[in-house]
Amino acid sequence: MKDKSKRTRAVHGGTRRSQYNEVSEAIFLTQGFVYDTAEAAEARFLKAGDDEFIYARYGNPTVRMFEERIALLEGAEDAFATASGMAAVNGALTSMLRAGDHVVSARALFGSCLYILEEVLTRYGVEVTFVDGTDLAHWQAAIRPDTKAVFFESMSNPTLEIIDIEAVSDLAHSVGATVIVDNVFSTPVYSDAIAQGADVVVYSATKHIDGQGRALGGVILGTREFIRKTVEPYLKHTGAALSPFSAWLMLKGLETMELRVRAQTQTALDIAQALEAEPKLSRVIYPGLASHPHHDLAMKQLGAGGTVLALDAGSQEAAFRLLNALEVVIISNNLGDAKSIATHPATTTHQRLPDAQKAVLGITPGLIRLSVGLEGTEDLIEDLRQGIAAI
Ligand SMILES: *Cc1c(COP(=O)(O)O)cnc(C)c1O
Repeated sequence: MKDKSKRTRAVHGGTRRSQYNEVSEAIFLTQGFVYDTAEAAEARFLKAGDDEFIYARYGNPTVRMFEERIALLEGAEDAFATASGMAAVNGALTSMLRAGDHVVSARALFGSCLYILEEVLTRYGVEVTFVDGTDLAHWQAAIRPDTKAVFFESMSNPTLEIIDIEAVSDLAHSVGATVIVDNVFSTPVYSDAIAQGADVVVYSATKHIDGQGRALGGVILGTREFIRKTVEPYLKHTGAALSPFSAWLMLKGLETMELRVRAQTQTALDIAQALEAEPKLSRVIYPGLASHPHHDLAMKQLGAGGTVLALDAGSQEAAFRLLNALEVVIISNNLGDAKSIATHPATTTHQRLPDAQKAVLGITPGLIRLSVGLEGTEDLIEDLRQGIAAI
């Protein structure tokens, strides 16, 4: 399957069939597995083979199908699935770090990622230096000979800054640090993060992989050595396992992900172009627009602008008027969904941040994040236009 296109890998990769030869992947809704003999149980606990499972917290056939399919898609040697995207971020970092280690992280992070770096790791004696991820000089100044890992979201939430994976990886690798990239906004469709230098890639499968707002999930991708020797022991004993039912949703989500994400990206570009000249919007942020400060890097790294854009209505009052006037786009906080979703980061996802930090991250009172779904492009543009008219 490795030499096949991404579309083919997403449909067939990792498939395991039972004795019934089912077409659609089976959901193995079981926590445990029966051993024929006591000797067989002993042997499996000593070393489980590829198709041998012990307990669903350690692994499960449906979960394994999802892990193999996403690993094939990402070009990673192996993967470990988790109960949510945050379990993946936490698992990737916590499994490899110990007291006394130094980490460099981009400052522009999803709120819960920031909590792990700022509150959790430091509580256990890990030193974390935050940098402006878009400025290579900041990375260069912060990375030290004893730096163990660097962490960043390759496209930041919600202001859609692009971080240069290749350049940051070169700096990190010069001191032997592990590069961990949260690639949610880039999506597995456009990601080439491992070829560009990332050692570990994490996704919230809740977003584009499910793509239909049904279930939480996450995944950590990396070398077989990292996944089996570092991540697996930590996760199998701490319990953030993906449920087999959710794994099945994600597995089926992968089959249609490329079609969905490409259609959503095209609509996002159409909306960004249609709204760019709106006088009532002070900013239209979309990496696919030539006006975006990191447009060239986005094209080189991803080849596309992604499925999310951000609009600035100028003030919180104006943003709320716009949001409250929307009829097709819903107000919520997921992204990558088939339904278009508008979010006001300053009062929801990033509410916790002090105003000064919001300002540093460009999370202005008027900023609206728009995750573009699968509705008709004209309906979305019309809906947003009448929202803008209500400002
Ligand atoms: C949503 C998100 C997460 C967390 O994923 P969950 O599945 O909600 O736990 C992590 N990183 C980024 C960039 C996200 O957008």
